Amino acid sequence: MDQTHYLNARLADGMVADLTVADGRFSAIVPATNTVTPPSGAIDLAGQLVLPAFVEGHIHLDTSFYGDAWRPHIPCTNGFDVRERVAFQMRNLDQAAPMAERARNQLELCVGNGSLSMRSHVMVDAAVGLKHVETILGVREKYRDLIDIQLVAFPQSGILSSPGTAEVLDEALKLGCDLIGGLDPASFDRDVKGHLDVVFGLAEKHGAGVDIHLHDRGTLGLFEIEEIAARTKALGMQGNVVISHAYGLGDISADTLAGAAERIAAAGVAIMTNAPGDHPFPPVAALRKAGVTVFAGSDNIRDSWWPYGDGDMLNRANMIGYRSGFYEDWELEAAYDVVSHAGAKALGLEGYGIAVGARADFVTLKAEHVPEAVVAVPKERTVYRAGRDVARSGRISAKSD
Ligand SMILES: [Zn+2]
Repeated sequence: MDQTHYLNARLADGMVADLTVADGRFSAIVPATNTVTPPSGAIDLAGQLVLPAFVEGHIHLDTSFYGDAWRPHIPCTNGFDVRERVAFQMRNLDQAAPMAERARNQLELCVGNGSLSMRSHVMVDAAVGLKHVETILGVREKYRDLIDIQLVAFPQSGILSSPGTAEVLDEALKLGCDLIGGLDPASFDRDVKGHLDVVFGLAEKHGAGVDIHLHDRGTLGLFEIEEIAARTKALGMQGNVVISHAYGLGDISADTLAGAAERIAAAGVAIMTNAPGDHPFPPVAALRKAGVTVFAGSDNIRDSWWPYGDGDMLNRANMIGYRSGFYEDWELEAAYDVVSHAGAKALGLEGYGIAVGARADFVTLKAEHVPEAVVAVPKERTVYRAGRDVARSGRISAKSD
């Protein structure tokens, strides 16, 4: 049996432990023995904090320019407009480096920072067809030893307003996408029922999960959220549906939010937020209190939507905590939970965590505990995949191809 011992690991609960990894999973976790005769080949972690690898819950592998030429941001002509941003994106992509190369750059950035599970949306519409999906499926295959990737067939140009898209989405799911996406059923397609009929129809047909981009704000956004929650419940899809962004939850009254949060929790719909700069975003603490799974992702990294993003989910926890006004230790721990355990729950990951039987995908950091890790965001870290050292201080040590 392939076995490795890691000594003096500081766990999130404060325990200093010796960890044994056998065949890629934790086989023993015991209080540190400080033995004078450690097993041969044992690695002394010297009291570093050991956390399960982070969960990158929402990214776009096909549209980032990370590692490519810098693309100055083009502002919308009359306030934030999804349709206009999509047009800028198409123009930029025409001049970009090959997609597989850009996707690899982004993957290595994320792995280097400690994310070993990811959900990426991939653009599908009648114009680009399955081109993006085919490329990203190929990249996923090459990196499967390094990172687990779920792919969402994402109708970036709408569904009803881009005739032929529903058929291509169907093909994308047949080809290997794991989930069906959606995009602002009201403001983009101007037909909430029609849009959701296609999304949930394809989910049912393929037994796939749903992850919908929803930027619509205020009561319009809330109406769509409640429609999605109602369908999720009616179809028994609790735990398999995500609303990404859900800006609408960020600018409604506390009373309205309380009722909505209860219904979202009861429907088992998870909410993804990246705490975006100038947008209202879901109130993380209130939603968690109501029992809603709130998780996070980088979303756009140096793409046509904005120049920000560093692929570091610990830094994302910091941003979420900062924007949420989290100061106490338990609140900082909540910000960390959003990029780790809550992400694992939302993505339905098997064997996540530092526990006997769990997959030995972990990160070691120089921090005393989780709250310090969230505020300090130490960049010096080592990433282990199935107990094997795959990246140090952001640099990949084990290439997949
Ligand atoms: Zn997105």
